[in-house]
Amino acid sequence: MNRLSRTLIGALLIITLLFVSCTKEDGRDTLSVVTTIGMIADIAENLAGDYVKVTALMGAGVDPHLYKATASDVQKLDRADLILYGGLHLEGKMGDVLEALQSMKPTVAVSEAIPAHLLIKGDPHVWFDVSLWLYAVDATYQALVDLVPEHQAAIEANWHRYRATLVDLDRYIRTKAQSLEANKRVLVTAHDAFEYFGRAYGFEVKGMQGISTVSEAGTRNVQNLASFIAERSIAAVFIETSVPQRMVHSLERAVTARGHSVKIGGELYSDAMGDRGTFEGTYRGMVTHNIDTIVSALTSQGATQ
Ligand SMILES: [Zn+2]
Repeated sequence: MNRLSRTLIGALLIITLLFVSCTKEDGRDTLSVVTTIGMIADIAENLAGDYVKVTALMGAGVDPHLYKATASDVQKLDRADLILYGGLHLEGKMGDVLEALQSMKPTVAVSEAIPAHLLIKGDPHVWFDVSLWLYAVDATYQALVDLVPEHQAAIEANWHRYRATLVDLDRYIRTKAQSLEANKRVLVTAHDAFEYFGRAYGFEVKGMQGISTVSEAGTRNVQNLASFIAERSIAAVFIETSVPQRMVHSLERAVTARGHSVKIGGELYSDAMGDRGTFEGTYRGMVTHNIDTIVSALTSQGATQ
């Protein structure tokens, strides 16, 4: 999209938002917090769910890199009293919308609270290093306290509790990862969502697609990766709930052609949590599911045919 049409879309959006603002009915008593990905909604709900209404725009199986705001999203964003998003270019197609909102209401990119020297350049998948995600938790805490200062004491107690849960979770993942022999800690997935995970918990990570899912993996990439898997006798590769599976299946076939068999080790939650109301539909559940799935699949021996 060229600069002029981006500017025009931005201007139209602001006009739409102003129009909706002027016509909306007020009279609500609960303040509204709108987030992009579910992982951020999970923080807000745990910290302030009793005092604000939290809505995530992107549900289970939704890819944030490709997600475009719908008309109903624009309405929700307009009615929101606080907007929380990841930032670091995670929400690629919503960048203009979120930028336009910044001048109108509290709009916070929670991942951007992480100190720059701890970031992997160009990679927004920070939630997979639980110790880094604590910065997003702290940024969310601050934004919520600014929104409903009258509930600070309760939100602060919840914040301490939630933080403690995440510290335990970080320890769990670390221990579980170390139960796997070092040479088996290789994670092959559909897209490059797990670099932070790999760095934090000692896995070598290979994604078929790049960091964003915008462009698909090339054939050469698939062939190279297939050779790598065969040479290293890697037992399993993984699919992701928010990325189409066909590429991983073509990888599986390319590995078989090299006389090695690799299995699909299971489905990982990369950029979206599981269904609402399930354990995997929580942040703790999604990362617990991932490490359990990864370790159990990689524990078994890769077979040479
Ligand atoms: Zn991603």
